Formats: sequence, C-alpha cells, structure tokens
Amino acid sequence: MLHVGVNGYGTIGKRVADAVRSQPDMTVEGVTKTGPDFAAERASVAGYDLHATDEDAVDAFRAAGLDIAGTVEDLVDASDVIVDATPGGVGAEYRSLYEAHDTPAVFQGAESPDVAEMSFNARSNFEDARDAEYVRVVSCNTTGLSRLLAPLSETYGVKKARATLVRRGGDPDQSGRGPINDILPNPVEVPSHHGPDVQTVFPDLSIDTLGLTVPATLMHVHSVNVTLESAPDVRDVRDLLDAESRVFLVPRRSRIESCGELREYARDAGRPRGDIWENCVWEESITVEGRDFYCFQAIHQEADVVPENVDALRAMFDLADREESVARTNAALGLTD
Ligand code: NAD
Repeated sequence: MLHVGVNGYGTIGKRVADAVRSQPDMTVEGVTKTGPDFAAERASVAGYDLHATDEDAVDAFRAAGLDIAGTVEDLVDASDVIVDATPGGVGAEYRSLYEAHDTPAVFQGAESPDVAEMSFNARSNFEDARDAEYVRVVSCNTTGLSRLLAPLSETYGVKKARATLVRRGGDPDQSGRGPINDILPNPVEVPSHHGPDVQTVFPDLSIDTLGLTVPATLMHVHSVNVTLESAPDVRDVRDLLDAESRVFLVPRRSRIESCGELREYARDAGRPRGDIWENCVWEESITVEGRDFYCFQAIHQEADVVPENVDALRAMFDLADREESVARTNAALGLTD
C-alpha cells in the first residue's frame, strides 16, 4: 500500500486526495492546510489527517475545533511520496524539504519543468516516469492536448499541430479572477507558452498555440488543427479517438452544445463535484480535409489532471504498466464508458 501525502489541499489537492483514497493500492497519509477554513473542515469530516503548514497555525486550527495530526514536515517524513498541489512556484520551494526526507514528489503544471526529472502525461510517456523521484504532471491544457496528440501522432504522424486555447478566467471558487466582461488575447504574444509545455511531453512535436481568456469558470475550449503525415478517413479518426479511455466523444444525440451542458451531464451522472476527467471532443466537430484534422474539445480544468496524478504515482513506484494503471485508476474513479 503506497502512503501518499497531499501538500496543498486546494482545487487539485482535494480531488487528488479523493482519487488516491479510492484506489485499491494507495492510501492518503494526510493532507496539509495553511489555516482553518471550510476546506479544512470538510477534509477533517472526510477523515483526512490534517497537517499544519506552519507551527503558528496550529493554535488557530485548535481554536476552530480541528484536530491537527502534525506539521507538513511530519507528513513528508511519514509519507512514501508527496503530491504537491501548492500554488505555482511554492512546490519548487518545498523540493528541498522533500529531498531532506528522501521523499519523492509529484508536482503540478504551474511549476517550471525543471522542478522535476520529467513532465508526465499517462497516455504519452508513462514509462519515462518509471523510478523517477520527482515528476511534474503537466497542466490541464497540456494534458488535454497530449491526450489528443498521442493517438494522432502514433497512428498518422503529426507534421504540425495548431491550437487556439479559449481559457476560463478562473475556477468557480476564485471570485477575484476575471475578466468579468471582456475577451483577452492572453498571452498577447504568438505563439503562446502552451506549445513549449506540450513539447516537454513530445520533444520532437511541431506545435503552435494561441491563448485567450474569457469570462467563464466551467471549462477551457480548444480549437485544434493538426496537419497529419497522411490523409486518413474521418471515420477511422473518430474510431481512433473513441477508443481512447480518457477521451469522451460528445455524441450528436446527446444535444450537448455547451460546457454548461457538459458539466450538468456530469452532475446528472453522479460524478463527484460534477468532475469530468476526460477530454470532451464534440464528435460532429471531428473533420478531416486532406491531411488536416480539426476538432473542438472542452477540458474541465479542475479535473483532467486528477487521474494523471494517480498514474504518475504508479509509474514512479513501478506498481503497474501503463494500460493496467490507467484501467485501475479509471475503474476506481468510475471513469467508464
Ligand atoms: P489552489 O489555490 O486551489 O490550491 C492550492 C492550495 O495550496 C490552497 O489550499 C492553498 O491554501 C495551499 N497552499 C498555499 N501555500 C501553501 C504552502 N506554503 N504550503 C502548503 N499549502 C499551501 O490551486 P490549484 O488550482 O489547486 O493549483 C495547484 C497546482 O495545480 C498549480 O500548479 C496549478 O497550476 C495546477 N493546476 C491547476 C488547475 C486548475 O485549473 N485549478 C488545473 C491543472 C493544474
């Protein structure tokens, strides 16, 4: 049983903790919080051992009626591995603590790639994480693009990928983020930094990306064009993507035409927090013109990296090969067709 500590119990950390807990071969050793709040209360109710990030915060937790099992250092010491889901840049500051305790760690997408030995996407480079001590799970957008590009590249070859990323302004709990009434080229520079991030997973891939930010919290939407090395039949491409367990082809019959409807569908299906772990590719948008592939896909930014974190743990500790790990993760989460 792999004992996993979660440092940074926010949007990603709380979801990863629940996902780890649902796996048959892993357990949550504990989670950290910077201070008492609703998330700390819910973590405590859920039975997670709370660890304070700061000695000074211990009294505040006790005053709020929350039991504290120890400090972040205690958690790092007791865990086989840490999933670091702290805000971007904070993970890098923690790396020396993890090293001092000889505790491997999984970092998240806002960290610089050099925080870890490799940047991870289960579909694309699972085996490269084998026995690595420090792994970075790439961002929500890079995860979404990697899952799409891996099968296209393996089956048809990719000459050039281009993607416009229409990004949500913030997560639902980030009331201070925006814009609230605007559409921002973001970053204004073309190409955006997202392409180079995809290249941390596919070093030889030619890809250009453009970014926009819009007043939405639900999901990101990608408009994708990939020039392939060959000219496939569109039905074969559809079947290829349909066979991917973390790609959901949104069928015409569902009459789902928006991210709001996708999220409602996930809530109707009883998904925890209404999470969508898969890429949502609108089936009707899959188009092939000669060697050019096109599609629209929606990415639930709060959720798609969650199964990837679980698979990264299995790869690092050699607990399964890719197919077995992905199947185990999916089954435990309820990510099934
Ligand atoms: P978040 O702000 O929701 O959560 C971060 C948590 O870390 C918070 O609970 C915060 O209190 C805690 N924290 C802050 N300082 C800390 C410290 N010194 N020690 C321990 N905990 C501390 O952030 P998030 O959205 O979960 O993002 C975390 C990472 O996941 C980032 O690298 C981000 O890029 C990546 N990520 C986020 C999303 C997303 O859409 N939210 C998607 C994919 C990847």
